[in-house]
Amino acid sequence: MLPRLKSVLVLPDAGSVVIHRRALERVHLDDEDGAVAALLGLLREGRRAEPELADAMAANGFTVSERDVAAAVAQFDEWGLLERAGDDETLPLEVRRRHESNLRFYDVTASLDVSSADQHRAVAAARVLLLGAGGVGSGVLQSMVGLGVGHVTLVDFDVVETKNLARQFAYGLAAIGERKVDAAKAWADSYSPGTVVEPVHRRVDSAAAVRELAEGHDLVVCAVDSPDDIQLMVNEACFELGIPYVVGGLAYSTLCYWSVEPGRSPCRRCLHLHRGDEGPMRDALFERNPVNRATGPVVQLLAGFVTMEAMRYLRRTEPPVAAACYHVVELADGMTTERHAWQHHPDCELCR
Ligand SMILES: [Zn+2]
Repeated sequence: MLPRLKSVLVLPDAGSVVIHRRALERVHLDDEDGAVAALLGLLREGRRAEPELADAMAANGFTVSERDVAAAVAQFDEWGLLERAGDDETLPLEVRRRHESNLRFYDVTASLDVSSADQHRAVAAARVLLLGAGGVGSGVLQSMVGLGVGHVTLVDFDVVETKNLARQFAYGLAAIGERKVDAAKAWADSYSPGTVVEPVHRRVDSAAAVRELAEGHDLVVCAVDSPDDIQLMVNEACFELGIPYVVGGLAYSTLCYWSVEPGRSPCRRCLHLHRGDEGPMRDALFERNPVNRATGPVVQLLAGFVTMEAMRYLRRTEPPVAAACYHVVELADGMTTERHAWQHHPDCELCR
């Protein structure tokens, strides 16, 4: 294995080096004698295994032990600065070409342990159950196909209507009247051979139905908001099967997404029980009219957030950020963002 310095900017600074680890994050290292800069230079080439680095340092006039080099490499790796050189080449050329930008994104979380190619393989081997092919669901599907998710089982009961064309970009005029799942599959097939989309034209209205559909999948994405208790149904089914799930939606002008990881995070029923503790809902004076304010950019944002969280579960190189934690973007109030975590409820028997 050949450790290589990732593509980062490194600047000299009076007796030290400054590594621009991210756009707004820098690591300052003392380097009076220039040994750190020399080692980074060797690592940048990515041509030497760890034992060879000490010899190369000696050739540059620095006496450092193999042990010191190993400690430095381990520290650089812990800071997320290193990757395995040449690992992209373990993927077929056409995959590398198609997924070049995806691979470069995975560089951010790549390490000597898990390469960007490893992360792509995890994504390509994944099976996702996607509930809903509407605004958010069709956007999630498009992102997943672009990322090369191996298999998506897409479930929806609607047909394409003219009103969908304001925001559901997987469908065009020619698809009006078609089942959404079939039209979405046709789009995916024409876009990339890397994702198998299995269309299921069906209404989902019970935990048993979710369980039946979810079996054999690695992740569930819930992009539907009916029936009212669909999230509790998904929760129950996913807990029984031990599958994580991600949910996204829009309420009023508030975009939100969250996820649940069975065995690790509190579940959705916990939140339901906490809300019940706050007292029963009073009868409304007026019900609000059901309206859909989801514009193209709104569902694209939401589908992006949901897919990013889904990818954290599939790649496993960073923890999910929204497990038992509402992530909220308030569209009508300066795009303010908030996070609200919920805790386990003592009466919840599902995730105890
Ligand atoms: Zn629970």
